[in-house]
Amino acid sequence: MEILKSVVVFLMLAAGFGLAGHTVFWLLRYIAIGRTDDRTRIDELSDRVFGFFKYVLGQARVIREFGGLLHFFIFWGFLVLQAETIEYFIRGFVDDFRFGQLIGHNPYHMLLLLQDVFGLLVLIAIVIAAVRRFVIKPDHVPQSMDAAVILALIGGLMLTKFLAHGAEIAYLPAGFGEGELGWDATFTPIALATSYLVASGPESALDSTWLGPFYGVNYFAHIAIVVFFANYIPRGKHLHLIGAMPNVFFRKLEPGGSLYPIDLEDEDAESFGAGTLEDLTWKQLLDTYACTECGRCEHYCPAFNTGKELNPMMIIHKLKDHIKDKGIKVYREKGEDDFPTLAGGVISAEELMACTTCGACVSNCPVFIEHVDTIVDMRRYLILTEGEMDPEVSRTFRNIENSSNPWGVSNSTRGDWAEGLDIPLVSELDAPPEYLFFVGCAGSFDDRAKKVTIATARILKAAGVNFAILGPEEACTGDPARRIGNEYLYYMQASQNVETLNGHGITKIITTCPHCFHTVGKEYPQLGGNYEVLHHTKVLNDLLREKRVQVRSKPQKVTYHDSCYIGRWNDDYSNPRETLAQLPGTSVTEMSWNKRQGLCCGAGGGRFWMEEHHGKRVNVHRTDMALETGAERVVVNCPFCMTMLTDGLGHRDATMDAIDLAELVAENLVESSPDAATDPAE
Ligand code: SF4
Ligand code: SF4
Repeated sequence: MEILKSVVVFLMLAAGFGLAGHTVFWLLRYIAIGRTDDRTRIDELSDRVFGFFKYVLGQARVIREFGGLLHFFIFWGFLVLQAETIEYFIRGFVDDFRFGQLIGHNPYHMLLLLQDVFGLLVLIAIVIAAVRRFVIKPDHVPQSMDAAVILALIGGLMLTKFLAHGAEIAYLPAGFGEGELGWDATFTPIALATSYLVASGPESALDSTWLGPFYGVNYFAHIAIVVFFANYIPRGKHLHLIGAMPNVFFRKLEPGGSLYPIDLEDEDAESFGAGTLEDLTWKQLLDTYACTECGRCEHYCPAFNTGKELNPMMIIHKLKDHIKDKGIKVYREKGEDDFPTLAGGVISAEELMACTTCGACVSNCPVFIEHVDTIVDMRRYLILTEGEMDPEVSRTFRNIENSSNPWGVSNSTRGDWAEGLDIPLVSELDAPPEYLFFVGCAGSFDDRAKKVTIATARILKAAGVNFAILGPEEACTGDPARRIGNEYLYYMQASQNVETLNGHGITKIITTCPHCFHTVGKEYPQLGGNYEVLHHTKVLNDLLREKRVQVRSKPQKVTYHDSCYIGRWNDDYSNPRETLAQLPGTSVTEMSWNKRQGLCCGAGGGRFWMEEHHGKRVNVHRTDMALETGAERVVVNCPFCMTMLTDGLGHRDATMDAIDLAELVAENLVESSPDAATDPAE
């Protein structure tokens, strides 16, 4: 009988895990389709190991939301219970095996207690997760059959564990106790309670003669579920149990939102950007295996929220399906690659071009999936290789190329806003200024944004900051071109700016535009431009805190809109709010979606230069959130957010006005400043 049991357990494990291993092997082969990553992905090892502990074992991103807490218990329960599962496997060959024989009674009792408590917590979490997913049905949580199967399997594992354990306690003739069982059953209170349910006796559901078989049935059912689970994981949603851990370890450590350059001088390149799976890196393909289908990316996506075709979760899933379909056909069955191209085929141009690169998907994803890099790589293919673009995009590129700004205004007028303001040009100075005020295209050419530029200059002058501007020597940073996918045009613009800045010996830069701030500060280092770049939200906060400028009191109710490239991508939510807190009489009411979960205004990713053909306008959606606060003004820190929200307010005929943080400070500035030093960053 014992031999038969061993043979059955052996066959179950060998067949089950052999098949699962075969599936995982092919899944790994499929992601090897991807090209080599230019990054080693194992640099900064201590950060990666720390991140593994924090984000995998600590589930730091997962538990940001309520549903994540359930996941936390299920994940840890699953880990702790693996020891018991292994014990079950070994018991198939060594009948009375317990880990206690290896680690001693006390540690074993602790392990048993943990397993017992976690088993119950997992069961409770499973019930709550099932009710939430299939009864309450929150918008962003999909109700898939896959999820139902997984919940049923985990529930089955817990039930069979407790029933087998309970039967074991009840079955032993001497009851339970250290001598008989090798453990003290009081350390497994849930199993002990279960044993009373299944024990023989007048009130029992089962006769004692059935306890042995009852144990056996649950024991084998438990192993069968484990083996089935091992095969189900790589085939379904729970592939993330395999994919998420390496994905977190190999995650991008470069500054958030900084795009990777491509080698435009590669003469052997037949195309640029990602036209096929082979053009994506193995890490971008691994991303798809890590998705937990939590739905957070789509929930916070401005495009998805306003009825556009783009859904970041579906981008990842379409890619995953494509990897499997193509992998099976081309790499396993040696069939023809007659699949449509990736960009513009498997994933439509409309989906790709709807992205504002706001980063809500990336920063809310618990497993560090990098949607934006993949989307931009596919955009690069459409733009650079296929030349596929809307007329307004093509006009924007032409303007940047010919006039160094997307408006197409003569660049010789770039510094005209400063006439009469006594602001020097860098080219007129004998030595570099302490700060370069990099004004940006909007701040130089857009009438509304020019007011913010002038307000900022007034404040800097009032504080005695030593600064100058480039005037016509300044060129578009290339940000809109890069994010739309025209890496070549970005490279031309950025190289020109880096040459100018380095040529003038510029080391510190102030900007009012988050896109200039991000591109110059976080992406120009890729081209040899290394500067300390400050956005005016930080400069204003510092100047007020150090009392280098003073403001009068003005009672007003405002709400604050986080721009994506200061907030999410550069993690600065405090400087603007601290600045507002220093304006006497100003009270701030937050919008329902704010900070990391703030909604994009709709302008990023070059969307400012494109028409919005479908669904509700993103800027109107964000405006509605601002209006819900009942504030008199919505404060912004970006010229593009300013235009989008002003437009949204006009659309709603609202009395609320949009104002930049610098204008708010300048409005109440007491011009005679105290002794002003020269360095706002000190
Ligand atoms: S970056 Fe923003 S717009 Fe683009 S997919 Fe992610 S959430 Fe959506
Ligand atoms: S991509 Fe990330 S945020 Fe989106 S569903 Fe998958 S795990 Fe969740």
